Amino acid sequence: MSNGQKLIDRCRELAQISDNADGTFRTFLSPGMRRCYETVTYWMESAGMQVHIDDAGNLRGVFPGDGCCAQPLLMGSHLDTVRNAGAFDGILGVILAIELVEMLGSRKLPFDIQVVGFSEEEGVRFSTPFIGSRALAGSLTEEFLALRDAAGISVAQAIRDFGLDPNNTAEIALKPVPLAFLEFHIEQGPVLDHASESLALVDTIAGLTRARVTFTGHANHAGTTPMNLRSDALCGAAEWITEVERTALATSGLVTTVGKLDVTPGVANAVPGEVTMTLDCRHADDSVRFTAVKALRASAIAIADGRQLTFKWADLLNQAATPMHAGMVELLNSAARQSGLSLRRMASGAGHDAMILAACMPAAMLFLRSPRGISHHPDEAVMAEDIDNALAVGGNFLKCLSQTYKQWETS
Ligand SMILES: [Zn+2]
Repeated sequence: MSNGQKLIDRCRELAQISDNADGTFRTFLSPGMRRCYETVTYWMESAGMQVHIDDAGNLRGVFPGDGCCAQPLLMGSHLDTVRNAGAFDGILGVILAIELVEMLGSRKLPFDIQVVGFSEEEGVRFSTPFIGSRALAGSLTEEFLALRDAAGISVAQAIRDFGLDPNNTAEIALKPVPLAFLEFHIEQGPVLDHASESLALVDTIAGLTRARVTFTGHANHAGTTPMNLRSDALCGAAEWITEVERTALATSGLVTTVGKLDVTPGVANAVPGEVTMTLDCRHADDSVRFTAVKALRASAIAIADGRQLTFKWADLLNQAATPMHAGMVELLNSAARQSGLSLRRMASGAGHDAMILAACMPAAMLFLRSPRGISHHPDEAVMAEDIDNALAVGGNFLKCLSQTYKQWETS
């Protein structure tokens, strides 16, 4: 059996561990997460790691180096899932990191390797993502600990219920700061599959604008109001939505989505009086995103004016693009070349733990092809040959970093 197939089997084994009877579903410190940790702990210990769970619920395995470098290398991803999830999102990044340690056998590197399975990335239980990686980055504030789930249980209480201490979360941030963080993750999109490519280097995590846009006209009787005397908010919205699509099609790398519409009164026999919709706009270059959002706002105003509608705009989220560390991306690129692979560089349209950790350490990501681009779905898959390639790149990356870590040490 290839290593790739072994890792697929491990991911599928973890996918059986769920908070639900049907489908894979594990949230922050849930019963399913506890059982998942037991299995992953066994694999970590079998690979020679010392394992503990920190007070933000992150599973952490340490593989000691020879002591030359005080700073560890951090590798991993998240162990929580969305509802009715696939077997590989997040989990593969943890299992792959464990395998890289196992492949070292009795060899010691100049630095410790710390493999982390983050407790929370998806934002399902508390509607706010990245609880685990925020703790490692030292940014899990009181505000986050006070967030409540649908049952009214706070993050702090969930931590206590698991047998951990929420008063210690400030102590979780790694000291000394790691040399670097490396995250393997499935692409969760169709780009590599479409191009028949195995892996990609992530050079940026795209920035994101989310806004709420409202057009208001006049609701009226659908039968008695002549077409020329209407003020139809939904027709205005429709015109703008096609403009949103056109803008993205005309701008390389830009993705825009109107994913939610609330139509009032929302009945068959009334002219729509008001429409509230969301805009989600992403690009690797913040200036391109800002220019697009400004143009979309201007076009919404022009459309509203032309149709005698009133217009409102509310910014909901403005998240800057996060460049991955250029030196790390280059080191991964050399490792790939040593493995006989020439990898494209691409932006990630989705947020990842690496985005949070990039604020305090050099971070980079390697994407593995997602067959048919499917993710957040039970049909999510990964190919054994792609995992074997990722292991080859990861193994060479460890060799490269062992030779060059002195350039990375912080005094
Ligand atoms: Zn993920």
